[in-house]
Amino acid sequence: MATADILKPDFAAQRSHFIFTDEHQQLRESIRRFVISELRPHAEEWEETTFPDSVFHRMGELGFLGLDKPEAYGGQGGDYYSSLVLAEEMAHARSGGLAMGVAVQTDMALPPILAFGAEEQKQQWAVPAIKGEAILCLGITEPDAGSDVAGIKTRAVRDGGEYVISGSKTYITNGHRAHAIVLVTKTDPDAGYDGFTLFLVPMDLPGVIREQRLQKLGMHASDTALLAFQEVRVPSGAVLGQVGKGFYHIMWELQGERLIGAAGAVAGAQQVFDRTLQYAKERTAFGRAIGHFQVTRHKFAEMATKIETARQMVYATAWRFQNGDYPVREITIAKLYASRIAVEVADECIQIHGAAGYMKEYGIERCWRDLRLNRIGAGSDEIMLEVIGRSYGL
Ligand SMILES: Cc1cc2nc3c(=O)[nH]c(=O)nc-3n(C[C@H](O)[C@H](O)[C@H](O)COP(=O)(O)OP(=O)(O)OC[C@H]3O[C@@H](n4cnc5c(N)ncnc54)[C@H](O)[C@@H]3O)c2cc1C
Repeated sequence: MATADILKPDFAAQRSHFIFTDEHQQLRESIRRFVISELRPHAEEWEETTFPDSVFHRMGELGFLGLDKPEAYGGQGGDYYSSLVLAEEMAHARSGGLAMGVAVQTDMALPPILAFGAEEQKQQWAVPAIKGEAILCLGITEPDAGSDVAGIKTRAVRDGGEYVISGSKTYITNGHRAHAIVLVTKTDPDAGYDGFTLFLVPMDLPGVIREQRLQKLGMHASDTALLAFQEVRVPSGAVLGQVGKGFYHIMWELQGERLIGAAGAVAGAQQVFDRTLQYAKERTAFGRAIGHFQVTRHKFAEMATKIETARQMVYATAWRFQNGDYPVREITIAKLYASRIAVEVADECIQIHGAAGYMKEYGIERCWRDLRLNRIGAGSDEIMLEVIGRSYGL
């Protein structure tokens, strides 16, 4: 450092975190340009209609659906951080439902296909999914089993060279539009955790029924389905991974999903913070900008501290994940903390906006509604606490 007489704080410095290279930075800029110019202008409309399938086609064309996927299957061959960059930049679309629908494809359904799938399954589904020509969903949750994954009832029964699948799945994101589903089933009810098997099931098979399109508090741009499987016959080649190892496969999948979810929550919190900061500088009361009341200033200080803490936790955990660790405890802590603070930040931002925060026109209430899902989806706060607590042998 040069010997400076006066060293001023570099509040405006844009240095990125050390996990990111210049290439990540360029990727970030190009995703942000795309998101702001092609997605954000439609955010309001897609709240009413859900986002169109063409978003997948376009993102596939741009290579954004396969950033960290192997080049052999049409991906960009990048590292895990490139997927984090996508999750963060999608927040600029200001549509949680859109970001979630895309993340289901890139970070929930594709990873188990690429990790456990047979070559034929990868060619049939991963290649077109990375191109944006096939849309995928993931079915874990059932009407009678959410947090308790081991309590699912969907059965797959062997019948010669086929399996017959019966049961139902609910709250399935992309469920109405998907061409295939990564489906969690029970193949041996007496085998405990060794009685589960994943299947990769085309959604146009006889017996696959897309029931209700479910209405939600937030994430309106996404489609959320109740699905029924009525004696759906699939060949044994539809098994994804090992028969009997589906529970372990899906627990692995959930780790990537949770970390990406945490990154998205932090980015969502940053978005609503930035918009509210702008508002607090412009809105006046009692002759001054509301941001200049000490109480409001401190609210921003508290929010910034939470966001920055969560972000550092996500990055440090991603660094371990990228470098071969399997940091389940830290992923769980990051998911829990990021989800909680995102909701706290969005709630405080509504307060700072006053009545404007309660109005649809400003979009701040939507941030709160969308972010609220993070405390439930991909494992609720209470389940995260269980995982963390048990990791200490309790
Ligand atoms: C918009 C949306 C999209 C979704 N997308 C998908 C998807 O694409 N695919 C998919 O499979 N699922 C999806 N889900 C489902 C989601 O993952 C589940 O809702 C979640 O796992 C919680 O399950 P549950 O809703 O059945 O809650 P329950 O398991 O019924 O839990 C109810 C409450 O009890 C608490 N609880 C449960 N067990 C315990 C315990 N042991 N200790 C303490 N408290 C406990 C929970 O924390 C919660 O507060 C989605 C959900 C939503 C809302």
